[in-house]
Amino acid sequence: MGDYLVRAVCGEGECRAFAVVTTAIVEEARRRHDTWPVATAALGRAMTAGLLLGANMKGEDILTLRLLGDGPLGAVIVTANAHSEVRGYVQEPHVDLPCTAEGKLPVGEAVGRKGTLYVTRDLGLKEPFFGSVELVSGEIGEDVAQYLLQSEQTPSAVALGVLVGADASVRAAGGLLIQLFPGASDGTLSLLERNLSNLPLISSLVDKGMIPAEIIAEATAGLSLEVLEKTPVRFACKCSRERVEGLLASLGREEISKMIREQGQAEVRCHFCGEVYNFNGPELERFLKEIG
Ligand code: ZN
Repeated sequence: MGDYLVRAVCGEGECRAFAVVTTAIVEEARRRHDTWPVATAALGRAMTAGLLLGANMKGEDILTLRLLGDGPLGAVIVTANAHSEVRGYVQEPHVDLPCTAEGKLPVGEAVGRKGTLYVTRDLGLKEPFFGSVELVSGEIGEDVAQYLLQSEQTPSAVALGVLVGADASVRAAGGLLIQLFPGASDGTLSLLERNLSNLPLISSLVDKGMIPAEIIAEATAGLSLEVLEKTPVRFACKCSRERVEGLLASLGREEISKMIREQGQAEVRCHFCGEVYNFNGPELERFLKEIG
């Protein structure tokens, strides 16, 4: 089975847990955007967070994460939907920074330690929900946990990890989210804190071949555990040639005439997935006719 997400209830309903393996999704994002290692790690962590935060969405709900830090990556943007699909990009995919003293990719430095994480939950026809929080470290996991606590009043532990191989491809990626329900006992809280402080990096657990249910079991050891559901997750974008045609046609006569005059063609690249759509001269002439 490819990448998938598992949700579970633990500690007799005192908390819930989500774990996801995203190795293939992050590798697909890397190939589509040609991200260099630290950008791959940042984008991968953000996409993994999007899937975890979006795990309870329904219908046409859409979750958007925007990390706007003062680091060299610029903006990191991710959207996830209720069909367990995620897409995302970083503004500057070609950032190269030396590893930290511990030999890790410096995600916090690349994202920036100062800035804001914006979260939008677009809930179909209902009013969208906006929340934001100042970045804690730019490492993304801590920032998302802080957001959940401050904006959604849910004490949460978030662990995100991407392991990039020597050839720059993604070796392992995944994430874990544990949320305490109101009324959870102090005993449960301290047990979880102890477990999580002893938990190896998520990316190393995934790299060892652990599946989401095993990661949750390790993080919640000592508590009862009921695995509820297993959902496949994937990279997907909603762009299409038809949508891009609509976009081009909406540019107006002047803009299209200028493209024909100056370039004789048009190339449109989707930010989110890197797909390139080409339109030749006669196609652009047709848009002009359609506008009338
Ligand atoms: Zn796209």
